[in-house]
Amino acid sequence: MKKVAIIGAGPGGLAAGMVLSKKGYDLHIFEKDNQVGGRSKRLSLGDYHFDIGPTFLMYLEILEEVFQKAGYDVHKELDLMRLEQLYTLMFNDVTFNMSKDPIENIKMYEKYQPGMGKSYEKWFSAQRRKLNVFAPILKKPFPNALHYLRPDVLKAAPYLHPFKSVYSLLKTFNPNENFIHSLSFQAKYLGMASYQAPSFFTILPYLEHALGLYHVRGGLNQINHKMAELIEKNGGKVHLNRQVEEIIVEKGSMKGLRIHGEYMPFDEVIINADFAYAMNHLIKEDHLKKYTPLKLEKKKYSVSTFMLYLGLDKEYDFSHHEILFSKDYESYLKGLTQNEITDDISVYIHNPIRTDDTYAPKGHSSLFLLVPVPNLTADVDWSTYREHLKEVTLDLIEKRHQIDLRSHIKAIHMIDPTQWKDDYNVYQGAVFNLAHNLPQMLNRRPQNKFEEIKHVYLVGGGTHPGSGLPTIYQSALILDKYL
Ligand SMILES: Cc1cc2nc3c(=O)[nH]c(=O)nc-3n(C[C@H](O)[C@H](O)[C@H](O)COP(=O)(O)OP(=O)(O)OC[C@H]3O[C@@H](n4cnc5c(N)ncnc54)[C@H](O)[C@@H]3O)c2cc1C
Repeated sequence: MKKVAIIGAGPGGLAAGMVLSKKGYDLHIFEKDNQVGGRSKRLSLGDYHFDIGPTFLMYLEILEEVFQKAGYDVHKELDLMRLEQLYTLMFNDVTFNMSKDPIENIKMYEKYQPGMGKSYEKWFSAQRRKLNVFAPILKKPFPNALHYLRPDVLKAAPYLHPFKSVYSLLKTFNPNENFIHSLSFQAKYLGMASYQAPSFFTILPYLEHALGLYHVRGGLNQINHKMAELIEKNGGKVHLNRQVEEIIVEKGSMKGLRIHGEYMPFDEVIINADFAYAMNHLIKEDHLKKYTPLKLEKKKYSVSTFMLYLGLDKEYDFSHHEILFSKDYESYLKGLTQNEITDDISVYIHNPIRTDDTYAPKGHSSLFLLVPVPNLTADVDWSTYREHLKEVTLDLIEKRHQIDLRSHIKAIHMIDPTQWKDDYNVYQGAVFNLAHNLPQMLNRRPQNKFEEIKHVYLVGGGTHPGSGLPTIYQSALILDKYL
């Protein structure tokens, strides 16, 4: 029986485990942490629970397929809830309450500015056409430039607008800044500003508006726990507290792993650990040409995040998902891309008790606050700056909402880019991985069948097709074509 190892039980590694668990392999997942999930794991502070990372679940059909491959129905295994309201977006001069019903959104935009409803309708139809042509491309490997000549890629070419960004493409639908930002803040899911993100990514908000945003009772972290359970049910093994130290390579071919000083032979290895971290720490440099530490240093990486997880003895009126935009959002985005810090921040608030009573005791709440910040290539001393940013974040929410948060805090946990790097093994703390600029996408992104070493495969946000749960799950589905 073929012995297959997966390094890391993040969403990518677990999805790979699901896809491979029915193929009759001797399957082992090695996770360095004491629980599964990685950047998507569960955090508990006493009776207050949180998702460490992902809170937005969209494009469910990919996750459905992952469960089907393992012989299960995701709708039976998880308590999935479609959110009625997508999110609240608080700009300086207007608040948009975005609905799951596009007709309501047309009315909302039209009320804000006559004609804007029509712009939204046009944008919506254009994204539908775009998704239809791009979805098949992202579902396949893209190993080299010849693949640009594939019929499906040629069909999509007119929709690519390679010289436009998400921001400039949206501007062609309506130049109003609030309109543009309400349909482009999703570039942050890729750790990019809308000015940088290739126009292709205007489909991200469409996935939410047309196909819905989902919550899982207990948190998105439950997807990971369920996958680990089903992999073991199918005969695979998930080993916790097992940090892989080295991938052993001989003459360009993977032979096995070194774990806790012990050599373990394997036939195939799948890397889920952060791609750039893995190249720097798990493979000896002389086995690499394209992805040496020096070459990786020169690549572009996503922004990072500063996180506050608060357990509070009070419930608040925030929506399930809410974003407070900076006063000068444009400068904030531009500053982020130039590694600058500012007090005029944007904050995303996750207030899951609006939908799910498992996060905190009755009358209490668990708030997750996320502030996009530069990654560790910026010159910021996080040992002092994190306290300052905590105060700025709390001030902003208290002032904008006219509420008192501070005196209700019963539990608190903070993560800054240095913890993402040191505790989660994320290169430069760039939590959304290699940036998604055109020179680092498709055939120019690390391929799921690793180009440099035989019998090594890649899954997760740093590989093809990209960061974000749907594409991470898709990276595992692509493995099906190789293994
Ligand atoms: C704050 C935040 C919010 C996010 N929000 C969203 C969202 O709302 N929606 C969305 O779709 N995406 C979101 N993402 C992006 C993405 O979905 C998550 O980061 C996701 O967890 C990445 O999955 P992954 O499998 O690529 O990597 P990881 O989750 O990092 O998994 C890698 C695993 O490898 C393990 N590992 C590392 N090194 C070793 C080693 N040497 N040996 C053994 N194990 C090792 C790690 O412990 C980890 O478990 C968010 C990310 C962050 C950080």
